[in-house]
Amino acid sequence: RADVAGDAVRRLTRWCDDFPAPGIRFADLTPVFADADGFTAVIDAITQAAPDADLVAGIDARGFLLGSGVALRLGSGVLAVRKAGKLPPPVLSRSYDLEYGSACLEIPGDGIDLQGKRVLVVDDVLATGGTLVAAADLLTDAGADVIALAVVLELAELGGRDRVGKYPLTSLVQI
Ligand code: AMP
Repeated sequence: RADVAGDAVRRLTRWCDDFPAPGIRFADLTPVFADADGFTAVIDAITQAAPDADLVAGIDARGFLLGSGVALRLGSGVLAVRKAGKLPPPVLSRSYDLEYGSACLEIPGDGIDLQGKRVLVVDDVLATGGTLVAAADLLTDAGADVIALAVVLELAELGGRDRVGKYPLTSLVQI
């Protein structure tokens, strides 16, 4: 499945220069997810990255699509890690730097018991790694055991893999 997923990503990704800011080459995976075989293969390959996870955290917004698909395969729950301002209080939050600007991620501050939960964190693209690290650190601070990070596409020249450091990282395609 990893080969099928990789082929779909390489064939179908829409590359957009200077979006959303000058100098950024944006990888739009929308056509990969819209392709039945591509989406299924991507979900299956990411599921294999952490078959023993008991919660999948998907990062706003494309990580939500991946997270719910993977959680269904695992029979686990899914947690949406939101951009700031979307969740009612109380929230736990973490600010971080982006390839273009800065941002903040949030999860509910009550109602979810993360103590000892084995969490897989998923997103579509790894660029500088700031987003994944912020999500993983936020979940760790909340008591979770972040056992793996997984992305569909790793933009290797931006050095995100080094930044995520302490967390095991799987990427289906490296460019
Ligand atoms: P980063 O924190 O720099 O690793 O950025 C990763 C997050 O921003 C992910 O949620 C991506 O969806 C998005 N992102 C950043 N850079 C790009 C890019 N060049 N192409 C597509 N998505 C990107």
